[in-house]
Amino acid sequence: MAEPQRIVIIGSGLAGAAAAGALRERGYTGDVVVFGREAHQPYELPALSKELLLGDIDEPHRVHEPDFYETQRVELRLKIEITRIDVGERVVVDSTGAAHSYDRLILATGSTPRRLPVPGGELPRLRTLRTVEDSLALRAELTDGASVLVVGAGWIGCEVAAAARRHGASVTVVDPIDLPLRRVLGPRMGEVFRDLHASHDVTWRLGVGVDGFTESGVRLADGTELTGDVVVVAVGAAPNTGLAQDAGLAMAEGGVAVDAALRTSAPDVFAVGDIAAHQHPRYGQRVRVEHWANAKDQGAHVAGTVLGLNEPYQTAPYFYTDQYDLGMEYRGLADAERDELVVRGDVAAREFTAFWLRDGRLRAAMNVNQWDDGTALQALVDAQAAVSPDQLRNLDLANLA
Ligand SMILES: Cc1cc2nc3c(=O)[nH]c(=O)nc-3n(C[C@H](O)[C@H](O)[C@H](O)COP(=O)(O)OP(=O)(O)OC[C@H]3O[C@@H](n4cnc5c(N)ncnc54)[C@H](O)[C@@H]3O)c2cc1C
Repeated sequence: MAEPQRIVIIGSGLAGAAAAGALRERGYTGDVVVFGREAHQPYELPALSKELLLGDIDEPHRVHEPDFYETQRVELRLKIEITRIDVGERVVVDSTGAAHSYDRLILATGSTPRRLPVPGGELPRLRTLRTVEDSLALRAELTDGASVLVVGAGWIGCEVAAAARRHGASVTVVDPIDLPLRRVLGPRMGEVFRDLHASHDVTWRLGVGVDGFTESGVRLADGTELTGDVVVVAVGAAPNTGLAQDAGLAMAEGGVAVDAALRTSAPDVFAVGDIAAHQHPRYGQRVRVEHWANAKDQGAHVAGTVLGLNEPYQTAPYFYTDQYDLGMEYRGLADAERDELVVRGDVAAREFTAFWLRDGRLRAAMNVNQWDDGTALQALVDAQAAVSPDQLRNLDLANLA
């Protein structure tokens, strides 16, 4: 295959920037152009709900050093929104109507926070969290004594609650599900996070949805009105698939369908990160995850595919969180309501590892405040190892791996 002359990347987030870096690492010498609608050089999102929101740092972590784009001849076109892709003509069109040609196109457009479709759901006072501006604006409001309502007890809602408590705000978290993070972690692990936040004086309003937002707070489905100086909506994110959909690309699982090597249904168009519904060889199913590691690793992997390799992306999902003094890593892909949960260690002390087993094979593992077994856990999860609950509870994990 002839080497492409011009590779265009839409999206200046982690996945797009990682792809640009990997193209150069692989020795590609042609043009690399990255279009991004934000004003900043590519940065990573996890700190926006952690160190940056806590006030431990004042700028997000950059994906590359500031001089990377110049020294590596990556043309970074910031504050430009791409509004259309023409896969027949091989051009992308920006919001000024200018057309930019490509030989290969990588889509890395990420996600946008969801809003709730209820009365008041678009009120300007509602805060969501996706950009550095969102994080700094919210941080300015998380003052000592402020009352903060967080709608949504997922990862971002929980991290915002922890940051707000650190700033001395009073915090109430509302969610229609009876436990935080239950959909991902199941009931027992959901209780761990419920109790963690309760021990830091967060008030839970679980099992009740939000019927509407007002200028003073939220109205719950049971008729209760809660008031808050700050209202944060953390009800998940929607992948930015509009461009791909309008261009006629195949979709799946709410994202852009890509094969094992991250190719979309259109010739010479690839997709990575939050938007990619990837045919995962390890699981024999499509996997679309919104994780930092997935964006970074798929971004790096797609460079090889773009340059003509045909290697499947095999990496198991990985994510992490930090809340108060609890740090955890999760590897793999479990169905927490269905798979068998096995716990090793001390849950009450929040120092343990949870495992999820299906048909005698390890689907996922979550280490909480335990950092010695990462390599062994990765190997066991990658192999979907055949292990018994008894082995997981009692044996040295390094010997099992
Ligand atoms: C606050 C927060 C905390 C998180 N914490 C964690 C964590 O602790 N652990 C973890 O595993 N994951 C975490 N995540 C998730 C993780 O950061 C994301 O999954 C990852 O950043 C996705 O990368 P991406 O490149 O696909 O998308 P993004 O980072 O969203 O980048 C996409 C970029 O494309 C731009 N763009 C979109 N459309 C266009 C267009 N048409 N034209 C031009 N530019 C466009 C967007 O403006 C954006 O800059 C967190 C996410 C958030 C928001």
